[in-house]
Amino acid sequence: MKELKRFILVGAPASGIGTLGRCLADTLNLKSLRTGSMLRREIEACTELGRKALSYMDKAMLVPDEIVNEMVRNWLSESDNSGWLLDGYPRTVAQAEALDHFLQERGMSVDAVVYLDVARELIESRIMRRRECSSCGYVVQTPEVESCAKCGGQMVSRKDDNMEAFARRWKDFETMTLPVARYYEARGMVVKLSVTEEREPADVSRDLAQKLEEFSRR
Ligand code: AMP
Repeated sequence: MKELKRFILVGAPASGIGTLGRCLADTLNLKSLRTGSMLRREIEACTELGRKALSYMDKAMLVPDEIVNEMVRNWLSESDNSGWLLDGYPRTVAQAEALDHFLQERGMSVDAVVYLDVARELIESRIMRRRECSSCGYVVQTPEVESCAKCGGQMVSRKDDNMEAFARRWKDFETMTLPVARYYEARGMVVKLSVTEEREPADVSRDLAQKLEEFSRR
């Protein structure tokens, strides 16, 4: 049985991939990087990187590959090799190739790619309810909650959570990020979960644990 400790998560915007990733990271004791949350923190801290990213994120566009690649490389260089999870990266095939190259140079590789495939209608009905913690990135589906259950930070509605922005992000997902899932599928690295109706996150996590176990035995 192969030990799985380096993961990539792929999912459409608001697919629930962040929640699933948090469960997986807690269970397997992995360090996790959510590129979207890290970019938002850079914007809040008014860094040079944040300033560059803002002009794209404001329009619900993907931030250029070079900016995100460098951010992820820095994070990976500072992490030890004991186990990690990348959520929201790679989001283009060029990012996937850059990551492969970076890892190969260090004698490392990704063990599994979790692809959460969720029906578009389901995501649209969720998106209007989503709130995210402005400090730690914790996400809930209860718009009435004002402070974060994890860290006490302020829960806010994300600027890009509206139907117009969603349509743009969905299109980017289909044209740029789905090919990333196919890129890894062609390498036999994908564990796919399909969700067609609303389910409890704990149930989806349980399914994932089972599929990962099967995958590790292959
Ligand atoms: P998320 O929280 O993952 O939905 O990301 C929010 C926003 O951050 C996205 O709409 C992009 O503008 C930007 N972003 C996050 N990750 C990436 C990435 N890997 N490549 C390009 N842009 C990204």
